[in-house]
Amino acid sequence: MPGYEHFGKEEIKEVNDVLETGILMRYGFDGPRKGIWKAKELEQAICESFGCKHAQLLSSGTAALTTAMSALGIGYGDEVILPSFTFVASFEAVLSVGAIPVFVDVDDTLTLDPEAVRNAITPKTKCIMPVHMCGSMADLDALQAICNEHQLVLLEDACQSIGGTYKGKKLGTIGHAGTFSFDFVKTITCAEGGVVMTNREEVYIASDGYTDHGHDHKGVDRGADLHPFIGYNFRISELHAAVGLAQIKKLDTFLAIQKKNHTALKNALAQIPEVSFRRIPDESGDSCTFLSWFLPTEEATKAVVAELKAQNILAGNFYWFVNNWHYISKWDHLKHAITLNSLHPDLKAAVMHHATKDFAASDAIMSRCISTAIGLMWTDEQLKNKCDQMVAVIQKVLNEQKVAV
Ligand SMILES: *Cc1c(COP(=O)(O)O)cnc(C)c1O
Repeated sequence: MPGYEHFGKEEIKEVNDVLETGILMRYGFDGPRKGIWKAKELEQAICESFGCKHAQLLSSGTAALTTAMSALGIGYGDEVILPSFTFVASFEAVLSVGAIPVFVDVDDTLTLDPEAVRNAITPKTKCIMPVHMCGSMADLDALQAICNEHQLVLLEDACQSIGGTYKGKKLGTIGHAGTFSFDFVKTITCAEGGVVMTNREEVYIASDGYTDHGHDHKGVDRGADLHPFIGYNFRISELHAAVGLAQIKKLDTFLAIQKKNHTALKNALAQIPEVSFRRIPDESGDSCTFLSWFLPTEEATKAVVAELKAQNILAGNFYWFVNNWHYISKWDHLKHAITLNSLHPDLKAAVMHHATKDFAASDAIMSRCISTAIGLMWTDEQLKNKCDQMVAVIQKVLNEQKVAV
C-alpha cells in the first residue's frame, strides 16, 4: 500500500541531485541550481500521469485542501458537505478557511451517499467534497449531477486514491479541483507533501500564489514579485519533491502489485457466503490499496476483530468504526468545537450541532466494515498465508456465533 515500502536507490539518486547543488528551495537561485528543478519536474510528471492541465505541489495534503478551497473562493458563511467517514484533515481544512463543515452519511461505497448529500443542501451550500476513501471512489456521476443542478463546486479529496480512476478519468482530476497527499503512508510519498490538481487556469494561478505568500511569480526577481492577494507559506521543498519524483516513476508498478494481491485476497474471502464487499461505482478504477469487506452484523465484525487480535494478525486490518482519526463517532474535539483560537459563534454552533446529529445510517455500514491494507512486498507465500489465516478466523467466528444462536 504505501510507497515507503519500495524506498531505494532511485529516491537516493533524486535527493542527491538536489544535495549536490545545495539549493533546497523550489523557487529562485536560477544560476546555482544548475538546471535542477525537482518540484517543477514533479508537477509536470503529475500532469502527464493523471491527465490534468495544472498541478501545484505543496507541503501536505491538508495544505492542498486548504489551498484548493481558498482558490475556489470557499470561505466565511459557506457550507461544505463532506462524509462522516474520512480523515480529520478534510474538516480541518474546511475550518481553516472559515467555512462550515456539514457531515452527511456514507453508504456501502464508504463514501458520500448522494441522497444524504441532496438532503443536506441549503442556500448556504457552496461545495461538495467527496473523499475517495481507501483507494476507491465516490459515485461521481451522481454527485456531479447534484453540483450542476445547484451550481456547487466539486472538490475531490483524493488523498487516499492515487492512481484510481472513474470511467477512464483519474480520481482527483474530475471535479473543479482535486487533491492528493504524499505523506509517508500514502500510495506514493514525498515524506510530506501534497498537490492540488485542476483543469482551470484561474484555480491554478490562485493556488500557485496562495502557497507562496501571494507571490505572482511573474518576475525573474522574487523580491520584485507582486502580491495580488494575501497568501501563506505551504511550499514544498526540493528535497521532498525529489523523493516524489522517484516514487511517481514507480506508481504503475505499485498499482499492478496492489491489483494482483487484492484480487487474490478478494477471491479467498469471497468463498465465505456471509462476507460481502464494498460497492465500487466503477470496479475497474479501484486503486486496490485496500480490500474493504463487510460481515452481516456488528457483533460478528467485532468478534472477528477480537479474534484477529488474539491471533496476533490484526495488523493491516482496520476497523474504522472505533478509529480515532477516521470516523465521526470518535471526534469529540470536533463535536465540542475545541479550537485554540476562537471561532465565530455561528460557526461554532454549526460545528457543535454534529454532537446530536444522527449518523445511524453510517453506523450501520461502518460497524460491519473491515478494510485490509494490501501490501506491496508480500511474497506469494505470505499472501497465501494471509488469505488462509483470514478465512480461518472469519469461519471460526461465524461458526461460534451459529452455535451461540
Ligand atoms: C492523508 C489524508 C489527508 C491529508 O494529507 P496530509 O498530507 O497527511 O496532510 C487528507 N485527506 C485524506 C482522506 C487523507 O487520507
